Amino acid sequence: MKIDFTKNPEGLVPTIIQDAKTKNVLMLGYMNQEAFDTTLKTGKVTFFSRSKQRLWTKGEESGNFLNLVDIKVDCDNDTLLVSVSPVGPTCHKGTDTCWAEENVQAYGFLSTLENIIESRKNDQDNPDSYVASLFRKGINKIAQKVGEEAVETVIEAKDTNDDLFLNESADLLFHYLILLKAKNFKLSDVVNILEQRH
Ligand code: AMP
Ligand code: ZN
Ligand code: ZN
Ligand code: ZN
Repeated sequence: MKIDFTKNPEGLVPTIIQDAKTKNVLMLGYMNQEAFDTTLKTGKVTFFSRSKQRLWTKGEESGNFLNLVDIKVDCDNDTLLVSVSPVGPTCHKGTDTCWAEENVQAYGFLSTLENIIESRKNDQDNPDSYVASLFRKGINKIAQKVGEEAVETVIEAKDTNDDLFLNESADLLFHYLILLKAKNFKLSDVVNILEQRH
């Protein structure tokens, strides 16, 4: 790997730390050649600390190490992207990331939808919400809806109309997310099982 340590006068290269699994950005640090070599040798991410003016293995005091998974260099060789498996919270202030975020797995728009469904579950009296009305009717009704949408998806799968098939698939996924929430489960609970089987 070719890394350009000369762009910065102190020989430091900005290093973005990303969780290998969740893909969240955990922190940013700086590496010089020695920090980079130490990281490769020990498998524990090591920076050059600008405040301490010495090599600093993240977690050396707290035990919250960043176990190395992968290192990539950017298009012009002056920035590193380090993929890690973190032990404990990464920020010294105790949060998962240095931006005070929780390092949880997100599934893009499906997670957004999951959160909206949760807020409807906590607001079941809402007269304008279809999702709230489903929660009012209870789990049997929600499970039945999933069954109906599954059957409709099957029917459209046999047809040649892609638009109808995709729309029934969306109905199925949507109602399935509501059923998961009614059972107090999260999408990640199911994904975890799929990952274990993998
Ligand atoms: P640690 O490396 O976790 O044992 O922490 C040792 C010291 O490094 C802390 O007391 C902080 O001064 C500093 N430190 C730890 N984590 C971070 C971080 N994510 N960003 C900046 N400084 C940190
Ligand atoms: Zn660059
Ligand atoms: Zn921090
Ligand atoms: Zn449908």
